[in-house]
Amino acid sequence: HRGTDLVLSVEGVNKTFDGFKAISDLNFYLAEGELRTIIGPNGAGKSTFMDMITGRTRPDTGSLTLHKPDGHDIDLTKQAEYKITRLGIARKFQTPSVYTQHTVYDNLLLSLPRARGLFSSLFYRESKEDRERIDEVLETIRLTELRHSIAGALSHGQKQWLEIGMLLSQQPAVLLVDEPAAGMSDDETHRTGELLISLAGKHSLIVIEHDMTFVKQIARDGKVTVLHQGTVLCEGKFDEVQSNPKVREVYLGR
Ligand code: ADP
Ligand code: MG
Repeated sequence: HRGTDLVLSVEGVNKTFDGFKAISDLNFYLAEGELRTIIGPNGAGKSTFMDMITGRTRPDTGSLTLHKPDGHDIDLTKQAEYKITRLGIARKFQTPSVYTQHTVYDNLLLSLPRARGLFSSLFYRESKEDRERIDEVLETIRLTELRHSIAGALSHGQKQWLEIGMLLSQQPAVLLVDEPAAGMSDDETHRTGELLISLAGKHSLIVIEHDMTFVKQIARDGKVTVLHQGTVLCEGKFDEVQSNPKVREVYLGR
């Protein structure tokens, strides 16, 4: 599995909570620029897996390694959570947390690595590079027209895109996204899928999702990983996974 094109390797990971095995001998490899979708029934260990990548939860055994483009390997199990964020692993939670009183533009400005932290950001003046970066992100999340709108006035979907944009400002190596389409209209869901697809290649992404129409849209020819009882039940293209009898039994319930 090892190769220069991997960005993340997870090997032999286990995690037990009060005697309950939440993650069991989990192996997972993410390639540079890949968009990986993770599905699995409730309690399969999806959120725990994300928590381990970001350092919120520590594995009992096993390794989590970030492969930097310069060839260095970083043992994530030995890094503090804030350091893992600084290493370029960004996580988008389900609930959007934007600065509701600020404009779309200022939200993106405030999330630039140099401007982060409210105290310093009060005195922060953006550079030409910053403005270009923000303009680029605005185009990507398709909120250019709403750049001067107050974030609190955006729709639920627009807030989610803005939050993705705030993470993109930091140019993450790996972007983790937990149920990005939850609570969205069909149209917003589709647009969210297009946004995630447009990020692949430039970023490496792991997307946890339940909505099978959405999974099919974003997976295209990419890999889908099915988690079950804390381990990988199967991995493959959407059609392979969907027609796998084991998957149908545990996940689709038929
Ligand atoms: P998923 O996100 O796939 O629904 P989770 O990762 O949230 O699954 O949970 C996997 C299992 O681990 C569940 O049975 C859950 O109850 C258990 N679990 C998760 N976090 C904790 C915790 N902090 N303490 C105890 N049990 C936990
Ligand atoms: Mg979960």
